[in-house]
Amino acid sequence: MDHRGLKEGEGSNQGEGEVSKRTTARFKCCLRCKALLTSQANICPNCKSSDFTFDWNGLVVVFDPETSVIAKVLNITKPGRYAIKCR
Ligand SMILES: [Zn+2]
Repeated sequence: MDHRGLKEGEGSNQGEGEVSKRTTARFKCCLRCKALLTSQANICPNCKSSDFTFDWNGLVVVFDPETSVIAKVLNITKPGRYAIKCR
């Protein structure tokens, strides 16, 4: 008998690629300033807009807009949570 069976990753490959809880899905994005607000918010505290979308991508947290490069790129002037893509 010359039969070789290949055995790979016996039981060691479990639990990989698990998606963590999608907490970001609970935020909505302000169409005007890209601020991320909780779904309960009715008006954006940043720009007073009430146009929101749940269709956004990429979360960025800005603590200090004056020194943050990301804040400059995204035109963010106030600290907070923002979406990178928002439509
Ligand atoms: Zn806004």
